[in-house]
Amino acid sequence: MAETIFLKIIRGEIPAKVVHEDDLCMAFHDIAPKAPVHVLVIPKKPIESVNDIDEDDIPILGHIWATIPKIAQQLGIAQSGYRVVVNCGADGGQEVAHLHFHLLGGRKLTWPPG
Ligand code: 5GP
Repeated sequence: MAETIFLKIIRGEIPAKVVHEDDLCMAFHDIAPKAPVHVLVIPKKPIESVNDIDEDDIPILGHIWATIPKIAQQLGIAQSGYRVVVNCGADGGQEVAHLHFHLLGGRKLTWPPG
């Protein structure tokens, strides 16, 4: 798998505004936020996209889903609500080839997405 900017963030080689880190995942503010709260939650394992998730990754994915509401609580958007978005591939709008969950909130989000 090609080196990505997110691997460099995990290794601390480039800075990020980290809001959560543990053995399996990391969360940091998006550099170009699309909402008042826009955090990226990523597995430390370099899974390229949703297409590359396999059965062995279920504990990691379960952990990420259990962690997202805690981060939402920490950032003050749990009660007002939020959206979790995972872009996959070119048509999905994925730019960074390291699986990531966009956690967006702090304003009323429109639907459907573009
Ligand atoms: P994608 O389009 O792949 O679903 O989302 C990639 C996200 O990563 C974008 O929202 C983009 O703003 C964010 N991003 C790209 N490079 C950096 C970076 O160096 N630092 C941070 N914090 N976010 C980044």
